[in-house]
Amino acid sequence: MAEIPEGHPRRDSLVTRHRIEAGVEQGITSKQGLVAQGRGEAFDYLLGEETIPSADEAARVAAAHLLLAEHAVLSVNGNVAALVPDEVVALAAATGADVEVNLFNRTEERVRAIAEHLREHGATDVKGLQADARIPGLDHERAKVDADGIYSADVVLVPLEDGDRAEALAAMGKTELVVDLNPLSRSAQTAAVPIVDNIVRAVPNVTAHAEALRDAPREELEGVVEAFDREAALAAAERRIRGGDLD
Ligand code: ATP
Ligand code: MG
Repeated sequence: MAEIPEGHPRRDSLVTRHRIEAGVEQGITSKQGLVAQGRGEAFDYLLGEETIPSADEAARVAAAHLLLAEHAVLSVNGNVAALVPDEVVALAAATGADVEVNLFNRTEERVRAIAEHLREHGATDVKGLQADARIPGLDHERAKVDADGIYSADVVLVPLEDGDRAEALAAMGKTELVVDLNPLSRSAQTAAVPIVDNIVRAVPNVTAHAEALRDAPREELEGVVEAFDREAALAAAERRIRGGDLD
């Protein structure tokens, strides 16, 4: 990545692209993941490639949910593994959440490669290899999860989740925290807490909020959760994308 000059205006975006490319080469990211990244980048460009205030608030609310959870799980797919492996491990440590590999285009080989990659980045217990439970309402491969992981979780963070699965998880009654740059995507629309931000910025931001809230009393965390207006957060992101100026 040394070839991208420090002062390049699209530097972060190019570095991110290289990481996704490396993920594909390592067998952890699918080719579909490249397309998904491209779609995300377009929205990020229009957001000004920064965490907007409504996304920062949503990140804080997500942190409160993770701290309040009985059993929280962070779902990791090939793009997440390529872009933020250290950051996912840090968020799990800050909140006590489990980490589970959960793929839209599932192959056992890729699940194992991602689990191994996460372990290399410090994860101790990676779920997703058992695949001994099914999310109701989805076809066989797409439905696979761990019984002691996502299946039994009360709170799940699903960054860049596919719309169908986001809806199916919500239908199971789980509190769904979604990171997605497109406020109009079904995943964002379905989420209890939509964080409209790049995963690269959002995951460390949720961790920072969790660390700041760690010693807060339960009532304060519940207050943070109750004060959140998901519709307003989605509307603020859409406003920024449609009307923002790029200075
Ligand atoms: P649906 O309406 O079914 O949710 P979709 O928008 O999810 O459709 P995909 O292209 O499969 O369609 O999903 C990719 C999603 O992931 C896009 O919404 C895109 O904005 C988002 N995305 C891609 N890369 C990132 C990233 N780095 N950070 C945050 N979101 C991202
Ligand atoms: Mg989506």
